[in-house]
Amino acid sequence: MSAENTPQYGIRPRRRTFSVQVGNVWIGSDHPIAVQSMTNTDTADVAATVEQIQALAEAGSELVRITVNQEEAAAAVPEIVERLRARGVNVPIIGDFHYNGHILLTKYPACAQALDKYRINPGNVGGKRQDENFRTIIERAIEYNKPIRIGVNWGSLDQRLLTEMMDENAKRERPKDARSVMIEAMLESALRSARFAEEIGLPSNRIILSAKVSGVQDLIEVYQRLAAMCEYPLHLGLTEAGMGTKGIVASTAGLAVLLQQGIGDTIRISITPSPGGDRAEEVRVAQQILQSLEIRSFTPQVTSCPGCGRTTSTFFQEMARDIQEYIRKKMPQWRERYPGVEELRVAVMGCVVNGPGESKHADIGISLPGTFEEPKAPVYVDGELFTTLRGDHIVAEFIDILNNYVEKRYAPNAAKAAEAESTAPEEPVQAANAVE
Ligand code: SF4
Repeated sequence: MSAENTPQYGIRPRRRTFSVQVGNVWIGSDHPIAVQSMTNTDTADVAATVEQIQALAEAGSELVRITVNQEEAAAAVPEIVERLRARGVNVPIIGDFHYNGHILLTKYPACAQALDKYRINPGNVGGKRQDENFRTIIERAIEYNKPIRIGVNWGSLDQRLLTEMMDENAKRERPKDARSVMIEAMLESALRSARFAEEIGLPSNRIILSAKVSGVQDLIEVYQRLAAMCEYPLHLGLTEAGMGTKGIVASTAGLAVLLQQGIGDTIRISITPSPGGDRAEEVRVAQQILQSLEIRSFTPQVTSCPGCGRTTSTFFQEMARDIQEYIRKKMPQWRERYPGVEELRVAVMGCVVNGPGESKHADIGISLPGTFEEPKAPVYVDGELFTTLRGDHIVAEFIDILNNYVEKRYAPNAAKAAEAESTAPEEPVQAANAVE
C-alpha cells in the first residue's frame, strides 16, 4: 500500500451513531452533517422571528433554534411555525430552554407540539428541583414524540455535579488540575443526563448531545472523549467564539480537527455578529468549513490568488469579489435549476505566474494581466484555453461564459444533450469562441 493510501491520511469515516429525526431532517452518522443556526430576535416578536428564520433557512441553515425564555415567547411559537410553513419554509425549529422549560412546555402544549426538538441545558434546569424539572421536560418530549439535545455548556455547568466532583478530586492522593475536573464534569453531566432521560423512558435514538466550551483545545478534548463514550449524535460548536476573524478562525480550528476525525453530526458557528450585521454569516461559515474539508458541497467555489506587487490595480480583487457575489446571488435559482452546480470550481487569478495553471485546475478560470503583461485575459474551460478577453467588459463577458457553461453542464437535460451531440456528425469549429 502506498503512503497516500494509508489510513492516517484523509478524513476518517464518521463515528457510528444512532439516527435521530428532527422534523424533516435526520441527524447521525448515516446522514450528512447538518448546519444549524440560532436566531437573535425576541421570539415574542413573531414577524421579526419568522423573517430571520426564513433568511437563515434560505442561506442554508438546515435546523434553526429559537430561544423560548418566557411565556410570551412560548405563546408565540405556534404562530411562528404556522407562518413559516405557510411560506413553504419547512426548516425544523428547535426550542432553547433554560430555567423554566418544564413550566413553559407544560403550560403551553401548542408550543411543545409545534417545536421539532427541545434543547435542554442540564446546568440550567432549575435549582433544588433539578431532577424533577428535568424529568418534566423529558416527559413532555415523550408525550409529544420529540427528540432532545442535552447541551452542556461550561459557562453554565451543573454546579451541584461540579462541586461533587471537585470534592471527590480533593480526596485523591494526587488530585487532578481544575481543568481536567471541569472537562470530566462536562462529560459526566451530558452522559448522566442522557442516562436519566432514557430511564424516564425517552428512547436513545431521540437524544443528541453537545458539550460546548470556548477554548479550542478544550473543545477538541471534550468531544474526542465524549465521542468515545457514547453513540448519541454530537452537535459541535465552539461556544462564545467571538467576533469577526477571531470567531471564524477559532471555530474553524476546533471543528476542523474533530470533523477530520469523523466526529460531529451537526454544527453551529457561534460568532457574534457586528451591530446590524447579517445573522446568516454563521450559516455561510459553517457551510464553508464543511466544503473546505470536502465533506459537503453547498456553493461553487471561487479560487482567487491574494494578489501581490505584480497586480497593477484593484481590478482583479474587484473581479474576484463581483464573481463571488454574482454566484451567491444566483445560487437560490441555480440550486433549483442546475443540480450539481455546487461542485463548480471557478478561478480568478491576478497574473500569468499561477493564473493559467490554477485556471486549468478549475472548471472555468480567468487569468488577468499583471504589471508589464500584455492587456489580455485568457479564459480556460475544462482545462483548455477557451478564449482571450480584452477591453472594458471583461467581467460581463466572463460572466456570460460562466452562465453558458453552467447551463450546458448542469441543466438536467445537459447529459442527454451531450450524448446527442456526441452521436451527431462532427461540424467544423465556429470562430465565435475561437481559441487564441
Ligand atoms: S498569481 Fe500573480 S498576481 Fe496572483 S499572487 Fe501569484 S504572482 Fe501575484
